[in-house]
Amino acid sequence: MQILDGTAVSAHIKSQIKEEAASLSAKTGKKPHLAAVLVGNNPASESYVGSKVRTCEELGFDSTLLRFDGDITEQQLLAEIQKLNDNEAVDGILVQLPLPGHISPDMVINNIDPAKDVDGFHPITQGKMLLGQRSFLPATPYGILLMLEHYNIDTTGMNCVVIGRSNIVGTPMTVLLGRNGTPGNATVTMCHSKTKDLKEHTLRADLIVAAIGRSFFLKADMVKDGAIVIDVGINRIDDATKKSGSRLVGDVDFDNVAPKCSYITPVPKGVGPMTICGLMKNTLEAFKLRNNIH
Ligand code: NAD
Repeated sequence: MQILDGTAVSAHIKSQIKEEAASLSAKTGKKPHLAAVLVGNNPASESYVGSKVRTCEELGFDSTLLRFDGDITEQQLLAEIQKLNDNEAVDGILVQLPLPGHISPDMVINNIDPAKDVDGFHPITQGKMLLGQRSFLPATPYGILLMLEHYNIDTTGMNCVVIGRSNIVGTPMTVLLGRNGTPGNATVTMCHSKTKDLKEHTLRADLIVAAIGRSFFLKADMVKDGAIVIDVGINRIDDATKKSGSRLVGDVDFDNVAPKCSYITPVPKGVGPMTICGLMKNTLEAFKLRNNIH
């Protein structure tokens, strides 16, 4: 069993991004610029946005963090997004989800300029991805592809099962694993909360992506020997042995599943850092496209 080490892979990819960004900045006199929007004070969102902004600094990108109170109206937020769309100095826009209940995430995402949609959530971005046209890829599935590529894991002909059908992980992951490309060319089954006999599907899978949001959901008896398991879940559970009283776990019962796997991602330090890599690669790409660098 080999651990797919998101920290090590992301460090490698970030060093490449940093080098390219430095050389492009020397040529253009500009730096890639990511604007992050945070609404309210959800501690998990604070932490995710914080690490994205820190990564920008690490890579020599500019970043702007816009914070708004949780009672900002949808109209006000859309006006702020429009300002970022119009701001020539901004290459990428990221709105941290979830948003407060009175704001429609679809409305917000639909109002981001697709040329700056570095999270890859806009309908035009996802439509292009579906059609196999050049586009930003949604950051988490993109990060997973980068990880598979790094470990030379060839998904061609594999039976893959994606558990979860969200617009940001499960659905695009299903499309990307099944596309005619590398990684890709797999036969993919997308499972979800209404799937009957989930275990019947997962037991046939050469590769499983778990993106459910339930701690320890994927058990050892659901995984065949030698399978590759990618754990997207981030769940906080109580843990009296920790100073904070809690810890993060994935959707996979790691301790029991790992011994059966050929490869498996841990949580934390698996998919999480790769998502940030996907976001940063998209931001660099947005910068290049907006500056006519091919
Ligand atoms: P979501 O809540 O939008 O979707 C969850 C999916 O799980 C749904 O499509 C649902 O059909 C499916 N599901 C629920 N119960 C099920 C069951 N019993 N059997 C089969 N399927 C079931 O979640 P999401 O936004 O896709 O996120 C999933 C998890 O991944 C969460 O823990 C989230 O925090 C995490 N996440 C991590 C990263 C990262 O960078 N590591 C990025 C995005 C999301």
